[in-house]
Amino acid sequence: MPVYFDHAATTPLSEPALAALTQQLSRSGNPSSLHGSGRRARAVVEEARENLAAAAGAHRSEVIFVSGGTEADNLAVKGLYWSRREADPQRKRILVSAVEHPAVQDTVEWLEKHEGAEVSWLPVDDDGLLRLDAYREALDEDPESIALVSVMWANNEVGAIQPIAEIVALAASYGIPVHSDAVQAFGSIPLDFHASGLAAMSISGHKIGGPVGVGALLLGRAIKLTPVQHGGGQERDVRSGTLDTPSIAAFAAAAVDAVDKLPEELSRLSALRDLLIERINSLIPEAVLRGPGPNTGKRLPGNVHFTFPGCEGDSLLFLLDMAGIETSTGSACTAGVPRPSHVLLAMGLSEDEARGAQRFSLGHTTGLADVEALIAALPAAYAQARQAGMAGHESTIQTAATVAKATALVKKASAEASLTEEKV
Ligand code: PLP
Repeated sequence: MPVYFDHAATTPLSEPALAALTQQLSRSGNPSSLHGSGRRARAVVEEARENLAAAAGAHRSEVIFVSGGTEADNLAVKGLYWSRREADPQRKRILVSAVEHPAVQDTVEWLEKHEGAEVSWLPVDDDGLLRLDAYREALDEDPESIALVSVMWANNEVGAIQPIAEIVALAASYGIPVHSDAVQAFGSIPLDFHASGLAAMSISGHKIGGPVGVGALLLGRAIKLTPVQHGGGQERDVRSGTLDTPSIAAFAAAAVDAVDKLPEELSRLSALRDLLIERINSLIPEAVLRGPGPNTGKRLPGNVHFTFPGCEGDSLLFLLDMAGIETSTGSACTAGVPRPSHVLLAMGLSEDEARGAQRFSLGHTTGLADVEALIAALPAAYAQARQAGMAGHESTIQTAATVAKATALVKKASAEASLTEEKV
């Protein structure tokens, strides 16, 4: 079994989610049908809605089931933009952080290109935290023209937890709705939709121990949203399409389980995270921790992210994979061609510094033995990756050739299959 350090990409199904999924998969019935099977499926969906809402601090009528975090983000950003602009054509500005997941970033860029949106990318500090001074300035400059604000609750690459309460409070003084992508935060740190004052919040099943392909947009009852997808009028007429009863039941079971265990998991994972950070710092002093420090309370409990000078992140990833350890560079690469992370660049790193990035994300199956295995393998993998990164030196030419050949093979295979290591 590989040692898995990629829980931010997807985490294994939790036991309650697996039980709910298998129980419902053997049953049939469309929750919109009026007969007995339909009513039975509807009851399952409504119980899941109630439980999920309670786990997220929302009312059941505020849960819109969708296919995942990406769809929730698209629906929130496009839907809010369109409805606000329709009500007042001068509201075309979108304020959005510079470190969003592509599900928000690309959606905003699409609105800019095709729908006349004017985008203000909000800067972050060295730790990846939103610069509230710049945000305040952007808000104060013609608030009447702002359609919405979108800032993620926690960053998927460097684990930075954003000051959502302050962000919402500032926007509220102008009555501007705020959306937050809470895909990485929900189930990992305490959060409460009502208490946050957000207009909309995206969450996803497979990041919390539920299945892939299900998620939810939590949407305040008074918030108007233009639908992206049209059809049967399910989910408050905001998101048409037959509801996936088994996935919804499993998603809610995973959410209840994750939130129940949150206090104990938060301290367990934070301790493992801090141990890993401390060991990497002492074994590889030139590696630099990116994102907020472990003692600030502003870093996700399951996130460790370092840049390793002098090597390519994907070479290190590949060498660790060969040693049975699964990690991520945390940033996109298209058809095998690595691009420096937009998050690290926004934090002020140079392209060179951003190149050797590696994210180790911990989750409910991570234990001390996993951390020890990673610590045991990392120095050698880094030394090899660095030799590959310095190809050309006489003494390192052989290692460099091996790594370069292996990396090239992986790149070729991924290019052929159009595979990419996407932002997750
Ligand atoms: N937002 C963030 C912050 C994420 O990390 C992810 C994961 O890839 C997504 C959105 C997309 O979620 P999903 O995979 O459920 O579409």
